[in-house]
Amino acid sequence: MKFDEFKLNEALLEGLSYMGFEKATVIQEQAIPQIMQNRDLIACAQTGTGKTAAFVLPILHKLATSERTGVNTLIIAPTRELAIQIEQQIQGFSYFVNANSVVVYGGGDGSGWDKEKKALTSDTDIVVATPGKLIAHLKMGYVKLDKVEHLILDEADKMLDMGFLNDIQKIISHIPEKRQTLMFSATMPAKIRQLSKQILKNPVEISIEMSKPAEGVLQAAYLTFDAQKTPLISTLIEDKPDFTGILIFTSTKSKVSEILRALKRKGHAAEGISSDLEQNERNEVLTRFRSKQTRILVATDVLSRGIDIKDINLIINYDVPGDAEDYVHRVGRTARGTATGIAITLINEKDMGRFKRIEELIERKVLKIPLPTELGDGPEWNTKSTFDRRGFKPKQKGKKWNNKDRRKK
Ligand code: AMP
Repeated sequence: MKFDEFKLNEALLEGLSYMGFEKATVIQEQAIPQIMQNRDLIACAQTGTGKTAAFVLPILHKLATSERTGVNTLIIAPTRELAIQIEQQIQGFSYFVNANSVVVYGGGDGSGWDKEKKALTSDTDIVVATPGKLIAHLKMGYVKLDKVEHLILDEADKMLDMGFLNDIQKIISHIPEKRQTLMFSATMPAKIRQLSKQILKNPVEISIEMSKPAEGVLQAAYLTFDAQKTPLISTLIEDKPDFTGILIFTSTKSKVSEILRALKRKGHAAEGISSDLEQNERNEVLTRFRSKQTRILVATDVLSRGIDIKDINLIINYDVPGDAEDYVHRVGRTARGTATGIAITLINEKDMGRFKRIEELIERKVLKIPLPTELGDGPEWNTKSTFDRRGFKPKQKGKKWNNKDRRKK
């Protein structure tokens, strides 16, 4: 479906063609008409489906054709990176539309406070915020959300996982009950359904195919012992001199430093990003990676959700993510839109059971490639692993504790 069929504002259509958007994605096709008709909406859709434009475009259309007197639209997102990215898309689309926006997020050095305060008290049309920082401003009493007509919760499942439920409810208590509410979530667990019943009115439900990486991603895996992992990633990187964007994910911050050290020893230019960095440092690292000044980025899952970086050729999962959905998010960083990309996962003996659950979730077997001969043999594929979901060895069976045993200890 072409964008002009939505009867969007002309200036907005001009902005779209300027950005090279021609055909709507599935979520856009389903959501835009409903949002334009003021319906509440709950949408199950991952990042990469075009969900941001699905809510930003109809909101900008309405803003372009209505009188505004205060904050009109409030968008809440779980992480600073996602909030920044949503606001950047708004700025791109609204180039030709008379609408202004501000992004409010925590974790900086405090220098943004006055700028945010000014924007929040001067009739900004769209506020994109992380929950904690918005609450901090609300507590000061100068933020007026009583003219809000549209409330959007993005990555709602992630927000609940991060413990933001109370903050969200507090924020909603400042917004008029008569409003349009849109909720986007990558997964639809019971707690999300429950929240949707509380805050949405007779919503339209949209579900875009879930839990499968984009078609263009070539997925493969190596079975490795831990000691083989860093030599393997060096080999993978050296084999692909024409790859300009390589993203390596690992589950822990300490592993980020370890991998960086190993790559640097091998002479690879790489940078790392984790929640240890200050927000402005994170932004700078991301900007260098986006603009291809840095070829290799090593990151924790902070980056795996929601972040849109174009032209990533290769994703390496240094370890198997604990949460199967995180695999889909990590792998979703490559092959965005119509591009193609490669996602490689390194699986040690502990992670085999976990990886099998990922294969069940994505409903396909991922190709296991033999290790390069110089690295020797890796472990055998064995999913009847003696390790539990968290990677621990379960206690021996047959041994029952009783109080007498405890007393002996
Ligand atoms: P999102 O799922 O909102 O994070 O969007 C993923 C990426 O797809 C972003 O880079 C968007 O700019 C891009 N995108 C969204 N909708 C379209 C479209 N209709 N045509 C081309 N690119 C799009």
